[in-house]
Amino acid sequence: MPVYSYSQLNVYKECPLKYKLRYRDRIKRDYEIIESFMGTMVHETLKKCYDNLGLSKIDTLDNLLAYYGKIWQENWRDSILIRKKGLTQESYMAKGEKMIKVYYERYSPFDTDVTIGTEMRLNFHLDDEKKYRMIGYVDRLARAQGGVYEIHDYKTSAHLPSQQDADNDWQLGLYHIGIQQRWLHIKDVRLIWHYLAFDTELVSYRTPQAITSLCQNTRRLIDEIESAQDFPPRESWLCSWCEYPDLCPLRKHFFKGETLPLQQILFPMS
Ligand code: SF4
Repeated sequence: MPVYSYSQLNVYKECPLKYKLRYRDRIKRDYEIIESFMGTMVHETLKKCYDNLGLSKIDTLDNLLAYYGKIWQENWRDSILIRKKGLTQESYMAKGEKMIKVYYERYSPFDTDVTIGTEMRLNFHLDDEKKYRMIGYVDRLARAQGGVYEIHDYKTSAHLPSQQDADNDWQLGLYHIGIQQRWLHIKDVRLIWHYLAFDTELVSYRTPQAITSLCQNTRRLIDEIESAQDFPPRESWLCSWCEYPDLCPLRKHFFKGETLPLQQILFPMS
């Protein structure tokens, strides 16, 4: 049985056809949307902040913003796509800067917890036989007061989910399982999402019953994927962000056999 990631499972739930094209057929698209690029740059900057703290160095905000600007310039490529009309590379760069600034002002001098790791890779399983194996990356794991371990996840999206969404989230629930498998002494785990554009933390916990149920549901989903013969398209608002509209029977009527620029293939309605 292959090792699964949360992203793979989530893509299957969103749309089985997109899952097949991306993970079974391995069709690569040589582009990145700017929202994803900006998210990566912000994550890298916050990682640097906490990695330096582990070396007893507290970055100033100016230092961090200079680092953000530097990695932005170094990594920028012309294949990065800007979808929203009227917005530019500079608009997105400024948006990411604002997120870093707001986060810094809220949490500096970053002394309320001890960082255990950043971008921490987790390998874990969902059954005693270790048949259902998973991999994941935690943005930051920290030990807070009272011996509570916190799984921090940074979000740069323009959408703020509800508390109910956080309480039902699979991703950090799965990482909760991974953390407790790696360190058997960990009892209390807090899940924290930082919605940076809104300066908002969402916090959630998982009971042992919720963890058992998450394991069962995830194994069931993996079984479904493993035995799938058909991968039907599932249309939703997420189609606007899909990288395969030209290969999808529900969307390719937009193209009428024309050879179009990548921007128009990916975002035909923008
Ligand atoms: S366009 Fe929509 S329905 Fe078609 S493959 Fe992509 S996500 Fe699935």
